[in-house]
Amino acid sequence: MHTPMFSLEVFPPKRNAPVGTIYDTLDGLEGLEPDFISVTYGHGTHTDRTATARIANTIRNEYGIPAVAHLTALYSDRNKVDEALDMFEQAGVQAVLALRGDYIEGEEPVGVFEHASDLVAYIRERKPEIKVFGACYPEGHYQSSSLDEDIVNLKTKVDAGVTHLISQLFYDNDDFYRFLDKAHAAGIDVPIEAGIMPVRGAKSVRRMAERNASRIPDHLAVMLDRWEGDAEAMRAAGIAYASEQITDLVAHGVDGIHLYSMNHPATTRRIWRNVQPLFSE
Ligand code: FAD
Repeated sequence: MHTPMFSLEVFPPKRNAPVGTIYDTLDGLEGLEPDFISVTYGHGTHTDRTATARIANTIRNEYGIPAVAHLTALYSDRNKVDEALDMFEQAGVQAVLALRGDYIEGEEPVGVFEHASDLVAYIRERKPEIKVFGACYPEGHYQSSSLDEDIVNLKTKVDAGVTHLISQLFYDNDDFYRFLDKAHAAGIDVPIEAGIMPVRGAKSVRRMAERNASRIPDHLAVMLDRWEGDAEAMRAAGIAYASEQITDLVAHGVDGIHLYSMNHPATTRRIWRNVQPLFSE
C-alpha cells in the first residue's frame, strides 16, 4: 500500500502586514513535516514579485521543508519570468507550480503566455533542472465549456512537461473520483494531489464556489446554514468536514492531499491530528 503525499499551501502576507506574520504561520506548522509547502504568487501588474521567492527561501532554508513556488503567466513577459526563475533557483525550490493566473478587470495581459502550458514549455526550456507542477480542476475550469474539454487542455499542459498536478478545491469527493477516471482515460499519468480547503465561514465558501463555478453539495449547504453566525462551531464543523473528506480520499488510494492551509496553522494542526495515522508507512 502506498503512502499518499501530504502538502500545504501558504500565501505571502499582505504588503502592510507585519513582517513576522509568515514566521507565526510557519512556527504554527512546526512538527507537521509535509512533503512540501507551496507559496502562492500574486497576479496582476502591481504584485510584489519577490515575495514568493523570499518565503520559499525561508521555508527551505530556515525550516528545512521542501518548497514549491507558484508562478503566474498572464501579466508577465519573458524577462519577468526569467527573474522569478532565477530567484526560485537561488531559493532552492523543489518545483515551480506554473499557472496562467486570472484575468483582472481593467488590466491588459502582456500577451506572451496565453495558457499555463506556454509557461510550462518556457520553464522546461529555460531551466530543465527545475520540476514543473500544474493546476487541475475536478469540476472543470470555470472558463471551459465542459470537463471533457478542460481535460483535453490539461493533457496538453502535462505533455508540455508537467510532472505533478494539484487540484482546485472541491467539496464532494465523487467529483474528484469522476475527474480522476477521465484524466486517466485521457492518458494523464502524473501524480494528482487532491486540493482540500477547510471551511471557515459560510460567506467565503459561497463566494469561492461562485467564482470557481464549483458545487456546494446539499450536506455542506445544510452545515453552512446551521452554523452561519457561530464562528467557533463553523470552524469545528469545517475541521470535521475536511478530515472526513481526507479520510475517504486516502481510503480510495489517492496520490496525495494538498491542504490549502491559508495561513491558519491552528486549523491545519487540528486536521492533521485527525488524519495523521493515515499517512504513516
Ligand atoms: P490553464 O491551464 O491555462 O487553463 C485555464 C483555462 O484555459 C482552462 O479553461 C483551460 O481548459 C483553458 N486552456 C488551457 N490551455 C488551452 C489551450 N491550449 N487552448 C484553449 N484553451 C486552453 N492564481 C494566482 O494568481 N496565484 C497563485 O498562486 C495560484 N495558485 C493556484 C494553485 C492551484 C493548485 C490552483 C488550482 C489554482 C491557483 N491559482 C492561482 C488560480 C489560477 O491562476 C486560476 O485558476 C486560473 O484561472 C487558471 O490557471 P491555470 O494555470 O489552471 O490555467
